[in-house]
Amino acid sequence: MGFFQGLAEKFRRGLQKTKNVLFAPIRKLVSVFRNISDEDIDVIEEALIGADVGVDATRKIIERLRVSYKKGEIKTTDQILPFLKADLKQRLTERGNDLRAASAPPTVILVCGVNGTGKTTSIAKLAKFLKDEGRKVLLCASDTFRAAAVDQLTIWAERLDVDIVKHQMGADPAAVVFDAADAAVARKADVLIIDTAGRLQTKENLMKELTKIRNVAAKKIPGSPHEVLLVLDATTGQNAISQAEHFRAATSVTGLFLAKLDGTAKGGIVVAIKDKLDIPVKFVGVGETPEDIARFNADEFVEALFE
Ligand code: GDP
Ligand code: GDP
Ligand code: MG
Repeated sequence: MGFFQGLAEKFRRGLQKTKNVLFAPIRKLVSVFRNISDEDIDVIEEALIGADVGVDATRKIIERLRVSYKKGEIKTTDQILPFLKADLKQRLTERGNDLRAASAPPTVILVCGVNGTGKTTSIAKLAKFLKDEGRKVLLCASDTFRAAAVDQLTIWAERLDVDIVKHQMGADPAAVVFDAADAAVARKADVLIIDTAGRLQTKENLMKELTKIRNVAAKKIPGSPHEVLLVLDATTGQNAISQAEHFRAATSVTGLFLAKLDGTAKGGIVVAIKDKLDIPVKFVGVGETPEDIARFNADEFVEALFE
């Protein structure tokens, strides 16, 4: 199985529930060859809303569809899928889906988000992904707040056979970063990934803590963090967008890791994210194991939605 087939397979698995909501009603329409009616367009609109594409993005897609329909550019049901696929691909394609890298290693990736979105699991996935690419990965356990958070990351480090720098629970998260940055340089790591405690974007003191972490990293490794990944839980739908908006206002976020895509019919959130936020989705999580990660690719994503 080639790389792209593997990727498509991950999206396919991750998008099964979304496909059922989005594609099942549309498949009914396109299964019979006939002229498109106004009611058909309503069905498509409902399906998009149902998959959490969001009100605004759905309105834009449907407007374009209506214009093409009125102009006679699309007339028959067989033209619906090609139209939707092309529209979505165009809407989702963006540059900058690759991870940012330091000009000289180590690259520092700071991972943040609210509680339980999937940060630590996503870090395990990222660590495996990068290790499989031949990079030397070092983990930094800066979630010193929650009991067992350090243990959770330690277990992943052992399973994946990557190094970890940690302190006791309750330690200053920035102090762990201080040591981890030294270790990353001394051990010639290619990538340092920093796990952080879940925080509500509305808690000012916790956002300050994040700033302190960033400042320590920048002082130790100039130019870092090179990537600030915000982990969003896809099952929370439109709420994930509001989280991202708040985080972006409080700290610079360079990329999104959209976790739990497999657990939701709200996969259309990817379209809403693109419509609302100026932050690229770089990775998606499609399960609980370290293998369940896919680099975000618009074409693969759209094909998986409608195949
Ligand atoms: P954190 O609190 O943000 O660090 O979140 P965790 O990494 O501890 O994950 C919280 C829960 O979400 C755990 O039960 C994970 O197994 C689960 N989880 C994380 N990512 C995914 C995913 O992509 N798919 C599914 N189904 N579960 C996930
Ligand atoms: P809540 O205040 O009832 O919402 O409960 P939380 O569990 O969110 O927080 C309890 C206390 O712990 C609050 O004073 C928070 O400011 C603090 N707190 C929560 N998360 C963190 C964290 O990640 N780091 C640190 N240092 N403090 C935290
Ligand atoms: Mg965690």
